Amino acid sequence: MSFVAEFDALPLDAGLKRSLSASATNVREALTKSPLALADFAGLISPAASELLEPLCRRSRALTQQRFGKVIRLFAPLYLSNECVNNCKYCGFSRDNPILRVTLSVDEVLREARALKEQGFRNILLVAGEHPRFVSKNYLADCVRTLHDEFPGISLEVGPMETEDYRPIVRAGAEGLVVYQETYDRALYAELHTAGPKRDFNWRMETPERAYAAGFRRLGIGALFGLADWRFEALCVAAHADYLLRNCWKAQLTISLPRLRPCAGEFEPLTRMTDRDLVQLVCAFRLMFPDAGLVLSTREPAKLRDGLVPLGITLMSAGSHTEPGGYTGAGKEHLHQTVHGRIVELGASEWASDVHATGQFDIADERSPMEVADRIRRLGYEPVWKDWDATLTA
Ligand code: SF4
Repeated sequence: MSFVAEFDALPLDAGLKRSLSASATNVREALTKSPLALADFAGLISPAASELLEPLCRRSRALTQQRFGKVIRLFAPLYLSNECVNNCKYCGFSRDNPILRVTLSVDEVLREARALKEQGFRNILLVAGEHPRFVSKNYLADCVRTLHDEFPGISLEVGPMETEDYRPIVRAGAEGLVVYQETYDRALYAELHTAGPKRDFNWRMETPERAYAAGFRRLGIGALFGLADWRFEALCVAAHADYLLRNCWKAQLTISLPRLRPCAGEFEPLTRMTDRDLVQLVCAFRLMFPDAGLVLSTREPAKLRDGLVPLGITLMSAGSHTEPGGYTGAGKEHLHQTVHGRIVELGASEWASDVHATGQFDIADERSPMEVADRIRRLGYEPVWKDWDATLTA
């Protein structure tokens, strides 16, 4: 049975009610239990647990150190393309946004990757909009093959594909696939995804299972916080993670907690998740899934990221650019603008300025990777740029 069938049978309304009405006693019980059930997790994300944040943080911190040591794994996103056939109301890359677009050539991707390598990175996340013509399976496999010798850790965050289409990318050396459901609220999902193949909620939800069948050994999931109620999304992510741990057990699981950031199109968040809520959720995920990687991006400001280092986060991006060519200026020569999805030539005045492709969203932590690594060290943790070597397992 796929997760879609399990998801449709989940008593989510009851779970949410349970969370909203949980008592301090329920939360204290959950704090001492192991393993936890989804009902316990509902208690840990409750308003009552927000009042018990200190013991929740202490437990999360102890569990994280016990399972992962005092280590933060660093990675950087490398945007390959900002072309996209979908319209997602909250995303700057949406097809109908009149932005500057480009798909990097494989040589340009290598140039970008080497700039990241210079900064110390050996784990990279290749990111692209969904555009099967520009970002094809062959293109992705070529990128991975070209980078594989220099980067032992390559993951992808790209448009969902068929299992068969993933296989050559895995063979080329990719180990991880990240796909956020964005929102697990079916009605809201339909409202926010107005055009393109992404409208198919079930197809997206089954992506990690197809990726696992194709051989990916790191699976990343998450919801975009700021769309539906955060407690609802958190319950769904937890149920999804629980399913993947039972059914895709050879893979390592990571959970990301992205909150909406400003972007082209100027979409405003529909719901609020405060910093305190985010801290609570990181700790609740840690207690529920002691061995899952928890990922924090540069969407969050430096101070909050530093505060979350000891509390349960295990992976962080640093020094990120969310536009293709952002690290070296690669691809500038073949930028184009699209208006309602149609390519238009840039005018002379547009070329006169220092143009670059449009980014997906604004980042909040603008520190360099070195500054982030130094801060991690000063917090008593070790920044890790590369966590294993292919030659050791060959
Ligand atoms: S969220 Fe992804 S699929 Fe949607 S417009 Fe942005 S890049 Fe395209």
